[in-house]
Amino acid sequence: MVSVYFTILMSISLMVFYEATMYRLVKNSVYLYRINNVEVRLLDRGEENAIYVNTLLLKKKIILLKRDLPETILKHELGHVEQVNIYYLGLILAPWVASCNVLLLIPLAFTIKAIGVYLEYKADKAVGKPLKFNDPKPRPKSRLKRLYAWILENHPPDWVRMREDYLQKNIVTLFLRDILNG
Ligand SMILES: [Zn+2]
Repeated sequence: MVSVYFTILMSISLMVFYEATMYRLVKNSVYLYRINNVEVRLLDRGEENAIYVNTLLLKKKIILLKRDLPETILKHELGHVEQVNIYYLGLILAPWVASCNVLLLIPLAFTIKAIGVYLEYKADKAVGKPLKFNDPKPRPKSRLKRLYAWILENHPPDWVRMREDYLQKNIVTLFLRDILNG
């Protein structure tokens, strides 16, 4: 049985780690403007993407990773504003789950990931139309590579988000169809 103090310490350490990682992003970015009470900042990495920051200390911020992004990307990030930060919550919970049984971390990780993808899809729904990218990632021919994209990236893959019927289908159908169809 792991002591409660150790579990609390682990939980706090992970929170500090997460806050520090996000703080680095914020610190390296510059303030642009405010929209709906959310700060919008720029960290020009030339990537066609944005990051939504939502932590206890840093509050809600949107960091654009390139100038002149398509408007749908900002709208997507604004779709996150009312959502909980499921990854932060997962980090706080992980030591408590592990103190019961380390193996429970596996279903926890899968659950957090599944909720995370679902929340991304909800944020896309807030945009109201399929997303447009100037430079989308092409759909790999290999099933395994497509599966990796679903697992490793925060958002559903670009090629799925750009589909005409993206917002009409549910996320599970989209996932299965993307993996199973050649
Ligand atoms: Zn998102």
